[in-house]
Amino acid sequence: MGHWLRSDSSGRQIRSAVTGETLGVLGGVPDVAAMRDYAKSHGGPALRALNFHDRARMLKALALHLKAHRKALYDLSFLTGATLADSQIDIDGGIGTLLVYASKGRREMPEGFVLPDGELEVLSRDGSFLGQHVLTPRQGISLQINAFNFPVWGMLEKLAPSLLAGVPSLVKPASDTGYLTQAVVRLIADSGILPDGALQLIMGATGDLLDCLDAQDTVGFTGSAATAMALRSRPSLLQNAVRFTSEQDSLNGSVLGPDIEPGSAEFDLFITEVHREMTTKAGQKCTAIRRIMVPEAHLQAVTAALSERLAATKIGHPAQKETQMGALVSQAQREDVRGKLQLLAGECDVVFGDAQHCVVSGADAKEGAFMSPVLLNCPDPDAAKTVHEIEAFGPVSTVMAYRDVPHAISLLNKGGGSLVASVITHDPQVARQVVLGAGAFHGRLYFNDRVSQAESTGHGAPLPHMVHGGPGRAGGSEELGGLRGVKHFMQRSAIQGSPDMLSA
Ligand code: NAP
Repeated sequence: MGHWLRSDSSGRQIRSAVTGETLGVLGGVPDVAAMRDYAKSHGGPALRALNFHDRARMLKALALHLKAHRKALYDLSFLTGATLADSQIDIDGGIGTLLVYASKGRREMPEGFVLPDGELEVLSRDGSFLGQHVLTPRQGISLQINAFNFPVWGMLEKLAPSLLAGVPSLVKPASDTGYLTQAVVRLIADSGILPDGALQLIMGATGDLLDCLDAQDTVGFTGSAATAMALRSRPSLLQNAVRFTSEQDSLNGSVLGPDIEPGSAEFDLFITEVHREMTTKAGQKCTAIRRIMVPEAHLQAVTAALSERLAATKIGHPAQKETQMGALVSQAQREDVRGKLQLLAGECDVVFGDAQHCVVSGADAKEGAFMSPVLLNCPDPDAAKTVHEIEAFGPVSTVMAYRDVPHAISLLNKGGGSLVASVITHDPQVARQVVLGAGAFHGRLYFNDRVSQAESTGHGAPLPHMVHGGPGRAGGSEELGGLRGVKHFMQRSAIQGSPDMLSA
C-alpha cells in the first residue's frame, strides 16, 4: 500500500544457509484484506489504462533496471546457499523471462486493450451476426505463493505474464529466502516503473487472505504437493471458483537411449546433464532429474561415470569461485532430505555419497546446510514404490535399468505426472515412441543428441516460450508457455453481434 511495514521482532528467525547465523526475523501479519483492496482500487485500474504495448515496454524497463543491479542481488543470493552459477539461473533467468514477455507483448499482442483469440465466426447466413472470442484482464489480484528455491525467477516468471495481462500482484515468497525477493521488490518499488499498487509483497504469513479472494482473483502456487493440497482445497476457494494453479514437486526422469554406447558423444552428454541436475542449486530444483533410466547393459558404466563426476564435484562456500555445489537452503531442509533418503533406502542401495558427511571448502559443514550428493540404485524399479513417489529435494537421484523403450516409458510414467522427462538419443524413432507413449504424462519432453547439444538449453531449464507445469503429481497446471501464460490472467469471452459491434 505504498509503504514498508517492519516485521514483528518475536517471529521466526531466518538464517544464512552457509553459516547458520540469524539474518533477520519474520513475524506478524499485515492487513491483507486492505492490501487486496488497494491492488484492486489502485494497481488494477492503472494497469488496465495501459495497452499491451505500454505494459510490454514497462516489463522491458523493469528488466533493464534489475540487470543494472545484479551484483548486489548475487551477493545476497550467496546467503541462500546458491553459487554464482545458481544465482544466474535465478536472477538472470528471471530478468530473461521479463525480456521474453516484453518482446512477445510487442510482437504477438495488439497495441490495444483486448486480445482477440481465434478466428471470426460467421453465425448468420447474411453475415449480419458474427462471433469472436476475446480476452480482457481479470479485475482482481494475482496472488503468487512461491517456493524457496528460486526467490527471484519464481516471482518474475509469474509477475511478467500477470503484468502484461494487466493484473496487479501480491507476492508471498517462501520465508527462508524471501529476503532476496524483498531486495528485488525494493529495487522495483524504488525505480517507480510500475504504477502504484501493481506489486505488493507479503513476507511470512498471509493471514486470512485466501478466504478474501473471489472469482476475479487468481492464485499461483509453487511448492510441495502437501501444501498445494491444503491450500487448493479450502472451501472458500472452491466456493468462489478462484482460479488456482499449482506447480509442485515432480519425480522427473531422464532416459539414456537404447542406441547410445559408452564412449559416444551422447553418453558423455547424458552424464553431464544428470550431474548438472543433481548438483545445480544443490539439487533443489523442481525440474531436477530424480530418476535415471539406463539400458541394462550400461548400468555399470553409467553408475561408474556418474560416481566419478560426483566425487570430483567441489562443495564449498558459494561465494568461492571454485565451488561447484553450495549449501541446501537450511539445516531443516537437509534433515528433510536425510529423512526422505531413509525412506528410499528400503528399496534402493546407496552407490555414491554419504548424506551424513561431506568435505566442504571455505565453510563449516555442520553450521552450514552442506550435504554430499547421493546416488542410489533401485534394483527392481517395477516393484518399487518409493522411488516413483518420494521427492528428496536435494542432491539425490536414483539410477535404474530398463529392458526396452516400452519399459523405459512405463517407468517414466510411474512418476504419476512430471514437469519434464528427457531422453538422450540419436534415433528419431526412439523420440517418436516416447512422445506417443509418455507425452500425456509430462509437461515437457526434452530430446538431446550430438546435433543439438551445443545450443540446447538443458533438461532442467524452464523457458518462457514453452510450457512449464505438468499433469497429476506435478500439479496439473501450466505456467509460462508463451501467450498462454498471459491469457491465464484474463477472461475469455465470446462476443456476439453485428460487424460494427465487433469491430468496435
Ligand atoms: P512449501 O513448504 O510447500 O512452501 C511453498 C510456499 O507456500 C511458501 O511460500 C510457504 O510459505 C507457503 N505456505 C505454506 N503454508 C501456507 C499457508 N497456510 N498459507 C499461505 N502460504 C503457505 O514448499 P517449499 O519448501 O518452499 O518448496 C519446495 C517444494 O517446491 C519442492 O517440493 C519442489 O518440488 C517444489 N517446487 C516446484 C516448482 C514447480 O515449478 N513445479 C518450482 C520450485 C519448487 P513459508 O515459507 O512462509 O512457509
